[in-house]
Amino acid sequence: MATINEFSAQLAKINDILIPQVVNKRKVVPAYFTREVVTIVGVKTAKSRFLPVSHEGYSNETYIDKVELLGKLRAEFIARKLKGIERRAHMSLFRELVEISNGTEWKTFFEQKFNNKACTVPDNLCIACWNCSLFGGLEAGRVGTFSRIRYFDTYSIEDALDCVATMDSEEGMGIGNQIYEDLAKQRGAETYHLYEYVKPGVHFPFITMIESPTLLDVAGLISAIKRADEHGYGKYSTNHGKFDSEFLAVSTGYPRFSILDLLKWADEDGIDGLKAKFDANDPKAKFDALNKEVTIFGNENILEIADENLKTEFKKYLDALE
Ligand SMILES: [Zn+2]
Repeated sequence: MATINEFSAQLAKINDILIPQVVNKRKVVPAYFTREVVTIVGVKTAKSRFLPVSHEGYSNETYIDKVELLGKLRAEFIARKLKGIERRAHMSLFRELVEISNGTEWKTFFEQKFNNKACTVPDNLCIACWNCSLFGGLEAGRVGTFSRIRYFDTYSIEDALDCVATMDSEEGMGIGNQIYEDLAKQRGAETYHLYEYVKPGVHFPFITMIESPTLLDVAGLISAIKRADEHGYGKYSTNHGKFDSEFLAVSTGYPRFSILDLLKWADEDGIDGLKAKFDANDPKAKFDALNKEVTIFGNENILEIADENLKTEFKKYLDALE
């Protein structure tokens, strides 16, 4: 197996990517891109009801996003929803790391280091911190920085006819009353709302790429994904949209396959067949780099990268910020 040293040798350096520079009297993380890339591949399994809803709804019925794709009607989990929740999870991880590693309250630290701003997502971004460097941001009328992360829309492996509770399914739609209940009215169809939901156990493969990645970005994103799983994605995420993410591969190459390939492989060989493709010896799940890419397979190995490097790499970041 590839070692973490071989892997990190192909990544960008903290000092090149994450340390803000002064532009127009503002600190800004540089929009500087190296040639390196990291691809993270995995499968998310819903462990509660999940409501992927990207359209506004004004009626008292909520329908989840669905799309006809590769011979099935599939639940759709759009990139923007993945990014939004993972960005927030990354920010809360970042704040906690500041307090643990630096002993300063995060808000004070952020204001000292990043343009006198606490950097809140999405409306008051500082454009100078680690989170802004990875996810990008804009200070209206002033400065901006590009996102280094690339998300892809994903779709349920299972057919929506089986995996979504709807008006027509055996379970029927879910019933909630937290938004439309009008206590002045007698309880009835007007006082509660009905919602479709993706059932627990449904699988969504995912691919996420980081451009100009540092080892801190990789360890941080893996940790943030695990937190986002518990926070919840989609509508009503207080109670819904919890996931279990299993990582299949982390590579310094570009993927030679897409989400559509992952869906096809799962349709042909089942979930276990899909997972089995992510093995050093399988010719299908290939990563491509002009230099020989380094790929680490296996959920345990990948989580180990995050666990073993997050705090030490974060300390390097703090030192470089001084
Ligand atoms: Zn920021």
